[in-house]
Amino acid sequence: MFGLPVSRGVAIGRAVLVAASRVDVAHYFIDDGHAPAEVARLRHARDTVAAELSTLQRDLPIDAPTELSALLDVHLMVLHDPMLAEATRQWIEVRHYNAEWAVTAQTEVLSRQFDEMEDDYLRERKVDIEQVAERVLRALAKEESLLPQVAHARGLGGEDPLVLVASDIAPADMLQFKGSVFTGFVTDVGGRTSHTAIVARSMDIPAVVGAREASRLVRQDDWLIIDGDTGVVVINPTPIVLEEYRFRQRQSELERARLHRLRHMPSVTLDGQAIELLANIELPADAANALEAGAVGVGLFRSEFLFMNRNGELPDEDEQFEAYRAAVQAMSGLPVTIRTVDIGADKPLDRMAAHELRHEHALNPALGLRAIRWSLSEPAMFLQQLRAILRASAHGKVRLLIPMVAHRSEILATLDALARARQQLLDAGVAFNRIEVGAMIEVPAAALTMPLLLRHFDFVSIGTNDLIQYTLAIDRADEAVAHLYDPWHPAVLRLIADVIAAANAANKPVCVCGEMAGDVAFTELLLGMGLRSLSMHPSQISAVKQRVLRSDTARLAKAVKSVLDSDEPSEAWLLAAERSVQRTSAG
Ligand code: PEP
Ligand code: MG
Repeated sequence: MFGLPVSRGVAIGRAVLVAASRVDVAHYFIDDGHAPAEVARLRHARDTVAAELSTLQRDLPIDAPTELSALLDVHLMVLHDPMLAEATRQWIEVRHYNAEWAVTAQTEVLSRQFDEMEDDYLRERKVDIEQVAERVLRALAKEESLLPQVAHARGLGGEDPLVLVASDIAPADMLQFKGSVFTGFVTDVGGRTSHTAIVARSMDIPAVVGAREASRLVRQDDWLIIDGDTGVVVINPTPIVLEEYRFRQRQSELERARLHRLRHMPSVTLDGQAIELLANIELPADAANALEAGAVGVGLFRSEFLFMNRNGELPDEDEQFEAYRAAVQAMSGLPVTIRTVDIGADKPLDRMAAHELRHEHALNPALGLRAIRWSLSEPAMFLQQLRAILRASAHGKVRLLIPMVAHRSEILATLDALARARQQLLDAGVAFNRIEVGAMIEVPAAALTMPLLLRHFDFVSIGTNDLIQYTLAIDRADEAVAHLYDPWHPAVLRLIADVIAAANAANKPVCVCGEMAGDVAFTELLLGMGLRSLSMHPSQISAVKQRVLRSDTARLAKAVKSVLDSDEPSEAWLLAAERSVQRTSAG
């Protein structure tokens, strides 16, 4: 089975399925000692459903068809059947799944058993199980879980490593798995730069997305190989295949260890150009990884992740301030670039919060109310975030980054809001420092109007993930068009080169913080375009640094010219690289 490789390395482990139909229920591990309480929660939810069904049955009108009463009987039987009741309890006690996850895992197992039945009547009974499970999930949603979610559930489910298999996982759910037991993951849908893939990459575990059939073909507890370098997924491999991949796994770990030794080496090219390598982070806790990887600052803090998994309650100014300050302090004096929320597209607010703010139904989310458009439509929340970021600037070097700007009116409204936030803090006597303000270049319209942006902003940061999406009209999260999502497209490369040139000519800092920055296939090309600052997942810094150390920017700049004029830039680039190798070995 093949998919899109999104995070390097090889993972080998037992499959844990997150049910395709129920990705919107919470999935987390519970602490060892909390299993009895979680089982009690499940029992309580089941009692509620039993009472509901009995009431329904009791209140059936006299003339109701007898089938209806029989159906309710069947549902009551399913509810108490050990196949559902007992087995679900086991998922909690043995695997330490939370109750919702346990219900969906067992429903999935039963659904598949029913799918395989010869008898049509029995096969259709699957619907009853799903309907009962749905009722239990609804009852659980009303039962507040007081249990802490366990991020580090090492050793649970036996000694075998675990890999996660799902039809799709929202970035918010993926975030919950950060730092958990999983050593790899595979999904049916998604593109290379979908936010789910981005979070997976930040977890630095091998991952494959867009594998289409994965969650249907893989069964709970199957052994899986996930090759994050090639996109290959092997189900229940033979001993020979397993041995081969174990060998590759060891090789890849050795290579990582070798690269890791570069982490504190200065990032300077052969011709003496210093190249700034920064980190992308999602949460303040990631700052430690950034430092450990040798980043010289944070080039992109995706603050929207603070707004996820909140059950409708968004972080207030103080909570945000604490989070920003934590990141700033963890970076001990190195700059931290905080991007204002980029909610929308494939990072929706959770349903409750969206409902509260009436931002539920976007016709075309990628083109709708996202990023700065969203912030400007919620002025009170925007001001709150700006104040929190300004306050954090009193504790270190903070830079502010605005996502997805394209219009002059947006620029003016943003700067106006910032001035207001400053004034509010001044009036309240709250300390803050001067901060530089930058714009993300993510929309072709922005890339084509650089003089306007450079007049208003102190720096720019190219978000190639979105710039590619909007230049090529390819949804970055849709695997059906993933083959057309092409960073090598001449239009994309020319836009990037022009933005870098415009910023350099204006003497304003320019960075690339999209996934291209961490992809070693583009390091030399970007340096050749004149880029001197790249921001990426901490795990990619050493590999990119290795490329930097071997680069000669003057030579690369010459090679880039022909590539930008080419209709097939990737081929032209390969040719240029070959020529350069020949020249180096000849001379
Ligand atoms: C980008 O678009 O390249 C970017 C860095 O922002 P995000 O991936 O969060 O949309
Ligand atoms: Mg973006």
